[in-house]
Amino acid sequence: MTLFELKRKLIETGERLEDPMLEARVLLSFLGFSPLRQIADKDEEISETVAGEALAMMEKRASGYPMAYITGVKEFWGMEFKVNENVLIPRPDTETLVETAIDLYKENDLKGDILDLCTGSGAIASSIAKELNRDVKMADISPLASETAKENYERLIGRKADIRVGDLFEKWEGCKFSLIVSNPPYLTAKWCDEVDEDVKKEPRLALYGFDEDGLGIIRRIIKDSGNFLEKGGYIALECDYRQCSMLSKLLETEGYSGVNIKKDLAGKDRVVYGKYNG
Ligand code: GLN
Repeated sequence: MTLFELKRKLIETGERLEDPMLEARVLLSFLGFSPLRQIADKDEEISETVAGEALAMMEKRASGYPMAYITGVKEFWGMEFKVNENVLIPRPDTETLVETAIDLYKENDLKGDILDLCTGSGAIASSIAKELNRDVKMADISPLASETAKENYERLIGRKADIRVGDLFEKWEGCKFSLIVSNPPYLTAKWCDEVDEDVKKEPRLALYGFDEDGLGIIRRIIKDSGNFLEKGGYIALECDYRQCSMLSKLLETEGYSGVNIKKDLAGKDRVVYGKYNG
């Protein structure tokens, strides 16, 4: 079978997907056939093993499995993160949280430690560490997610990761930070039922935020955060656009000032941040 024929078969196999052509292109690129080769070398003979592997991957994709779990990698903040079924796949929208954290740290001339709660794949911590050239500490309740985060951080940053397995701040008693960031689970049970087929393959532990409004975990984070922030330190949290105003109120109630909301690339409210006044 030629590369061209394989590509056609892949598109056919993935026909129930929204954009089978794009999916086929991404899959072939992952297997070493760059988009340029897919055109220039379209008559190249492909071995049965490679063709079989590609088609099996596309079948899995067509059955509702996210492409990132099939390839095992996802790009975020210009870096390639290892992902698997123990971690949420990093979303482009979350780059808003990274951007906000970096700006807060620089513009307010913060000097102290940074903590990323519910780090998952470690994408947020690694991106901030890369950009600020400074270590970011991490926490996650899942030992398997923590392993993935540690591996990503150490490979991409080239320094040892300080990650502790525990429930939110549990393993950070007595520590103070200048900046706390988190993209915690925040979906309501109803939203969890409504997500796309491929999101359903992601860990519910990383998605479901508890309580009727999905803010159960965020409420716990905000309530405790004062014990772990220096006076004048900042917190930045990602949430759904329908939760931002509630989250702002929660921060104000807990003694935060200058509370503000940032929009994501789609123009929707996505990140809420504030300054802790001690
Ligand atoms: N933004 C994610 C989604 O909609 C949810 C991420 C989260 O719960 N932290 O699938």
